[in-house]
Amino acid sequence: MSRAVFLDRDGVINPLVYNPETNEYESPHYPEDFSIYPTVIRALRKLKEQGYYLFIVSNQPSYAKGKTSLENIKAIEQLLAEYVDSNGELIDKYYYCYHHPDGVIEEYSGACGCRKPGTLFIKEAVRQFGLNEKECWFIGDRDTDVKCRKSMGMRTILIRNKHSVKNAGKETSDEYASDIYEASIIIIGRKENELQGVHRAIHERNDGNHTNN
Ligand SMILES: [Mg+2]
Ligand SMILES: [Zn+2]
Repeated sequence: MSRAVFLDRDGVINPLVYNPETNEYESPHYPEDFSIYPTVIRALRKLKEQGYYLFIVSNQPSYAKGKTSLENIKAIEQLLAEYVDSNGELIDKYYYCYHHPDGVIEEYSGACGCRKPGTLFIKEAVRQFGLNEKECWFIGDRDTDVKCRKSMGMRTILIRNKHSVKNAGKETSDEYASDIYEASIIIIGRKENELQGVHRAIHERNDGNHTNN
């Protein structure tokens, strides 16, 4: 069985962008607004070294909502993929949902199973990559990311992004971090603790055997 870290994109990999029309911080709608947090590659490398599959799972409804073009959304995806690939193909698969329940573009509007907290993409990854859910993590900046795992038995880290506070805080996360790098340290630390726990249990059992003899 394999392990994986599922990563939300906006607010985790890249900063949210202020939209004066809605007075909110949102996903970037234009490639020129897209930038990547400086610690992303270091965090992804650390997790890769520990044998985690890495997946991006992201809701991108801004075309369905009429806020930008599909070309712009795809151009942003391309920028991220190129940046990641130039650092060693660190992401194993990207899962993007373009739907929105109340969209204005008919083709992308209405209910779907892939929009988080829907778990369609995650179930697909679990099947395709033979993942053990108990060894998987979900890193996100919103309650929908935390909610995603509840039916899946995965652990979560909520990134405390100051621009996401409106969309976070109602769900309880297993762990909290200030950014993706801190999240990667937490995951690796927890794994080491669990391994030490296993070793301790074996030692105690062996010690127990000695006293019995
Ligand atoms: Mg997000
Ligand atoms: Zn969808």
